[in-house]
Amino acid sequence: MDMYKWAQDMWTYPRSITGVGVRQTLNYIGSVIPELRMHSVPSGTPVFDWTVPKEFICREAYIEENGRRIIDFRDNNLHVIGYSSSINSLICKDELQKHLYSIEDKPDAIPYITSYYKDRWGFCLTQKQRDNLGNGPFRVVIDSEKFDGQLDYADIVIPGNTDDEIMLSTYICHPSMANDNLSGIVVAMALAKSLIKSRGRKYTYRIVFVPETIGSLVYLSTRLNHLRRYVKAGYVITCCGDAGELSYLYSRYGDTLSDRAAKLILPNNAKMFDYKYRGSDERQYCWPRVDLPIGSIMRTKYGTYDEYHTSLDDLSFISQEKLDDTLNAYKEAIYAIERNHVYAASTQGEPFLSKHGYYPDVSPNSVPDALNILAYCDGRNDLISICTRTGIKFRKAVTIINQLREVGLVVKY
Ligand code: ZN
Repeated sequence: MDMYKWAQDMWTYPRSITGVGVRQTLNYIGSVIPELRMHSVPSGTPVFDWTVPKEFICREAYIEENGRRIIDFRDNNLHVIGYSSSINSLICKDELQKHLYSIEDKPDAIPYITSYYKDRWGFCLTQKQRDNLGNGPFRVVIDSEKFDGQLDYADIVIPGNTDDEIMLSTYICHPSMANDNLSGIVVAMALAKSLIKSRGRKYTYRIVFVPETIGSLVYLSTRLNHLRRYVKAGYVITCCGDAGELSYLYSRYGDTLSDRAAKLILPNNAKMFDYKYRGSDERQYCWPRVDLPIGSIMRTKYGTYDEYHTSLDDLSFISQEKLDDTLNAYKEAIYAIERNHVYAASTQGEPFLSKHGYYPDVSPNSVPDALNILAYCDGRNDLISICTRTGIKFRKAVTIINQLREVGLVVKY
């Protein structure tokens, strides 16, 4: 699936936690996946300990010196801090400096700054642009507005054979940055499309597109009982496209089905982060009294790469190849969760294999694997934990289990 093209198409939408950029993004997702269901909640709605903020729009923003436009929101929507107050004023250089954000040791990076819950105005620019400012005065214009509107979000529910659910969530509030988080949006879209296409799964799949933090809180607040009852595993999808290796962020105690499946399918050298290093919507999903089993399969974790939350996290920082690789990791985790069961061996003492007509066709050396699997089919371990313990690859174990079931040496517990 052409995830990279989807990211290109959505690149310029001025995303924030509310507003037109969010709606453009959701409309685009809906144009690719008609099953998408749109939702909204009005500004001012109380949500647990929070309140849905006013809607934000920035129509225009620029800095001019001597009639020459030197910074323009139209060139890059990172140039204005998210939820910036409006201003139209002629100011001196000292005053302007108080409202500028740049990164000294990254001279070509525009930082990504937001101020959702505190009134302030400001521009973000590269250190080079800042160093090249003249002596002023400067005309600063931010034509923005915060008004009673709505917070938009969306989801897709793909029914399975049971009501138990796997929840996949990603966030749609970051403006023009590719890895964090257009890459998460497009991988979630690709997963949705492939899940819709192939039916016959055990689990119902819930794929959630929300603005980070306030959006996930809204999502939880209106569905908490249902989610607590039915969600058995799930992941926050983010940072899926950079050139780094796969990594994982555990849910709060690191012992859920999501954690065990991810640990099993990820390469042995994958970086595994404890929940104390959390940073995205698992903060809400795993919070006490919510307690959903949500981890996060990523490539390079947010906050740990130089380009993070800057304009350097652009479309050249991600690739279709790495998006495909991350998509595949998610598919493997889902495969493991779908085929994970508890089994019980049917003999007391080792079975006399040939008597049962058990001639493994996986490979000649699968008799020891079959016996190791059987040795732990005691009703206590599911197949994921048996594979973790024995080091047997999950897909191979599924084949072996199916053969053992055919000859009656193992039964579903
Ligand atoms: Zn971020």
